[in-house]
Amino acid sequence: MKCPYCGHKDDKVLDSRSIRDDEGIRRRRECNGCGRRFTTYEQIEEMRVLVVKKDQRREMFDRSKVLKGMVTACEKRPVSMDQLEEASYQIERAVYNLDERELTSNQVGEMVIQKLRQLDQVAYVRFASVYRQFEDVTQFKEIVDVLDTP
Ligand SMILES: [Zn+2]
Repeated sequence: MKCPYCGHKDDKVLDSRSIRDDEGIRRRRECNGCGRRFTTYEQIEEMRVLVVKKDQRREMFDRSKVLKGMVTACEKRPVSMDQLEEASYQIERAVYNLDERELTSNQVGEMVIQKLRQLDQVAYVRFASVYRQFEDVTQFKEIVDVLDTP
């Protein structure tokens, strides 16, 4: 982020927080050139985080895929759509708050696993037991269809 005072291109982030309930992230920054502080506002849709898959292909982080995987894991379980939506937003926020440009599909999967663990034990076990063999959460749908767990 370019410093508005001196134009230096390097800074450190002092603090990040979500604003307006998921619509963006506010960051307090300190310029590594002149030491002055400034605040930036980033809209989530402008932020780009790539997910690196096992075969090294990269794709944009997509909250809807995370949600889809969780909905599948919670099939026939007493977890509401609202809870799942909220959980997917929390994961999205956590992903952006990592402040990394890339993360692995595995890291995303682990976040999903942790959320499901809080929501429903059965969904958690289902997801955790099969997820790690797969590329990403979307492929999980296929395996659940095959298993057809009650
Ligand atoms: Zn500066």
